[in-house]
Amino acid sequence: MADTNCLVREGQNSCVVKCIHCESRVLSPQSATFLSQSHALPTPTQPKDQPSPNTEDLGEWWVVDDMFTFDNIGFSHTVGSTKYLVCADCERGPVGWHDNTTKKSYVALARVKHT
Ligand SMILES: [Zn+2]
Repeated sequence: MADTNCLVREGQNSCVVKCIHCESRVLSPQSATFLSQSHALPTPTQPKDQPSPNTEDLGEWWVVDDMFTFDNIGFSHTVGSTKYLVCADCERGPVGWHDNTTKKSYVALARVKHT
């Protein structure tokens, strides 16, 4: 679990959110809202040749209401109404997911770094 005290200010991100693997900037400070809610996300590395992906439950998210709020973000695959978010530069992830129904995006604090 991330140390959220230094990351959350008045319910929003107080730091720049970046990709863990490269220096690609995902979100600017004060652009996303903190959400504490358990949701499953596929793990970054998946064993080959299995019917459904391994997932892990993550509990801390940055909620982004509008895709244009992102500095950089990429999409990987879509499952139903869910699009998975990856780094726009190195395409690693998923770092979160996008709900096609509500148009909201959720970035896992555990899958990004904060600087
Ligand atoms: Zn990256």
